[in-house]
Amino acid sequence: MKLELDITPLNQWFLNFSKPMLIAGPCSAETEVQMLTTARQIAAFYPGSIFRAGIWKPRTRPNTFEGIGDIGLKWMQQVKSETGLLTATEVATAEHVEKCLKHGIDVLWVGARTTVNPFSVQEIADALKGTDIPVFVKNPIFPDLQLWAGALERINNAGIKKIAAVHRGFHSYDNGPFRNSPKWELVIELKTACNELPVICDPSHIGGTPELIPYLAQKAMDMDMCGLMIETHVQPKSAWSDAKQQVTPYELKEIISDLNIRSASVADIELQTKLEELRAIIDKLDNELLELLAKRMAVSAQIGAYKRDNSITVLQVAHWKKLIENGILRGNLLGLPKDFIKGLYHLIHDESIRRQTEVMNKSTSPLNPPKINSGQALSSGEG
Ligand code: PEP
Ligand code: MN
Repeated sequence: MKLELDITPLNQWFLNFSKPMLIAGPCSAETEVQMLTTARQIAAFYPGSIFRAGIWKPRTRPNTFEGIGDIGLKWMQQVKSETGLLTATEVATAEHVEKCLKHGIDVLWVGARTTVNPFSVQEIADALKGTDIPVFVKNPIFPDLQLWAGALERINNAGIKKIAAVHRGFHSYDNGPFRNSPKWELVIELKTACNELPVICDPSHIGGTPELIPYLAQKAMDMDMCGLMIETHVQPKSAWSDAKQQVTPYELKEIISDLNIRSASVADIELQTKLEELRAIIDKLDNELLELLAKRMAVSAQIGAYKRDNSITVLQVAHWKKLIENGILRGNLLGLPKDFIKGLYHLIHDESIRRQTEVMNKSTSPLNPPKINSGQALSSGEG
């Protein structure tokens, strides 16, 4: 994927940036007391953080708490003047943007439910024209990298250069222990497409429970993300939204101080040499894996031809079930986790089915198998 953005580096606009940049505060603004008490406690620990609070809440079902509305902007101003914290909130319409600008909110973010809609993102982008307020773009609810990139481009095209992406997890069938599946591979792809783009992790919405936040926050730091957005409330259990996932300012302090912040570059020459040696071994093994996969797919194609000539369907569910069960058992003996083996087998099997289906629909004989890359052909660069 290609993503070219014109970005002002984070440390040029977020002064005294040190990892992690912290965005903390309640899911929703509820009352003046809740806002000020939470903000004071956060400011006591992290005076350099950004205070977040949702003023307008996108709720899945109506007749739930849909945000306190405009009065919350006044409380944000109070938070800022009393604690000195910068303030941030979610915008979903041009009207939200205008109100935030009028009330001196420092950072805006586009929520996951808005990123999915290019009309809404464009409306927000148009309302931002002529300003240079920092804007964070949360990933869309669905694991669609193009939508995420598209929203970042729309905001950037409006002239906003202080931008960052927020990784808050994706809705999927199988979220495992998470409220939203992290799908770290999509973050890697986004960073690969645009390395200068700062990426902030929101472990609260990924985890959905405080217990998972330390693990997710550490993983985000090890993935070289620059910041964390963590929902923080003086009384999490009685929060008006997302009560299950918020932490107290004290718990936040524990989470942040337990983090191990590692460096993304290797300055020490000895460390660098050792790392390169290990990387060379990995490269060799990866090559061997690719060659084996190419050989395996060539056999799949031969099976496809055989099935075609004998009128056998491509898929035999019982066989596939046996295959994956055995794979999981063998993987387990080798110390490979079940989910990893499942994912790998699904990938290999999907490609195998594709090859077989392709062969099925060509008139090749099993004695004269179609030309498929062998491992050797692949490494010598022949088709
Ligand atoms: C939020 O930050 O409270 C929120 C609604 O987030 P998301 O858009 O990630 O669901
Ligand atoms: Mn929330």
